[in-house]
Amino acid sequence: MAKSFRGGVHPDDRKRYTAAKAIEVAPIPRKVIIPTRQHLGAPCAPIVKVGDLVKKGQVVAEAQAFVASPIHASTSGKVVEIAEYPHPVFGACQAVVIESDDKDEWAPGLPLSRDWQSLDVKELKEIVRLAGLVGMGGATFPTHVKMSPPPEKPIDSFILNGAECEPYLTADHRVMLEQTERIITGMKIAMKILGVSKGYVGIEENKPDAIEIMRKACTGSAIEVVPLQTKYPQGAEKTLIKVILDREVPSGGLPMDVGTVVQNVGTMVAMADAVEKGIPLIERVATITGGAIAEPKNILLRVGATFAQAIELCGGFKEQPVKVIMGGPMMGMAQRTVDVPVIKGTSGILALSAADVNMGDEQPCIRCGRCVEACPMGLVPNMFSILGERGVFEVSVKEYNVLDCVECGSCVYVCPAKRNIVQYIKLCKVQNAAQAAAKK
Ligand code: SF4
Ligand code: SF4
Repeated sequence: MAKSFRGGVHPDDRKRYTAAKAIEVAPIPRKVIIPTRQHLGAPCAPIVKVGDLVKKGQVVAEAQAFVASPIHASTSGKVVEIAEYPHPVFGACQAVVIESDDKDEWAPGLPLSRDWQSLDVKELKEIVRLAGLVGMGGATFPTHVKMSPPPEKPIDSFILNGAECEPYLTADHRVMLEQTERIITGMKIAMKILGVSKGYVGIEENKPDAIEIMRKACTGSAIEVVPLQTKYPQGAEKTLIKVILDREVPSGGLPMDVGTVVQNVGTMVAMADAVEKGIPLIERVATITGGAIAEPKNILLRVGATFAQAIELCGGFKEQPVKVIMGGPMMGMAQRTVDVPVIKGTSGILALSAADVNMGDEQPCIRCGRCVEACPMGLVPNMFSILGERGVFEVSVKEYNVLDCVECGSCVYVCPAKRNIVQYIKLCKVQNAAQAAAKK
């Protein structure tokens, strides 16, 4: 029987629009807008100037801290501008703008790339860092940091997150079907870096073809495919770890606290490409979908192409969208414009039509308890909305553990009063951090 967890919700997955669509490769954009910040952590500093000629894969912005990932040119051409541009996560961010020369010429590969079996852990980690790898599920945490747990946190297992539980998104599903061997190679590299002998692949049951193909590819290896019940948020790290390993990440803790590391499907392909081919992270597969898109697709897009260009490759809008989101509808980021660039964490571009969205005004909480039942973390979400609205932030942490919230949005999905619970949760977290900083 497929494994599952307490709580969660069952939204219509709406993956039917793109699940059978093979990945298309986008043409080289005429111009790419490459933000200097595409990860969680400090922004990078540009190391090119206007007028420079750059090659594909060349570093254009260098990391300034350990928790940061370098940024590379996604095509060859001329740097025509370094300026502030709209950003899909941070609102605005400095970007290096490159006008393509249509040659798409590669810079020399990453310096350490060769037969990965012969590389030691330090060399492998350095390639991962130089390649600018980040968590491609949307979290964008720098991969070399995640792959460097301190010695006092021994790791005994590795989990590949193939759940892709967000409605609409099918990019990971297609990558599992079309780049199976690259994923397995990436996993083996990751397992070597972590020094673990056991790997797991968690896949929701609504992707039986992916379960089958990944199982075949894992036969005879130390990697086990674990079918998961189709339920949101099955792919949240903490629920995945509980379901697969029966371990609970402690309050405020990380997967490494319970001896494991979780990575995304796309990140494993990028890891294999970096280590075996010397290719940095300059492109990714994203699902472009939603009721407002003429022909939804999965497309391999260059970092720095705009959402507008990606949507154009899908025939444009068939009707005016009421909402454009980067990522899925439950945890994605609403966008003010489609003139934002694709970044390393762009798993999907969702343009929702009026029929897709359940609009309505926020009402007072009626204390029905549905949000409590739905919360996979065992929290009391209605209290976050009440405390956030009243500005009682400290209580939300001390008595109601708001910091354990994974912001999955299950509570919002079931709320009949249309409470903006996640918005209040974010407010509680931000205000608490600010109050704690002010006390220091
Ligand atoms: S689901 Fe909405 S209305 Fe019901 S208790 Fe939770 S916040 Fe209140
Ligand atoms: S409180 Fe947080 S973890 Fe719980 S359902 Fe709401 S968003 Fe998800």
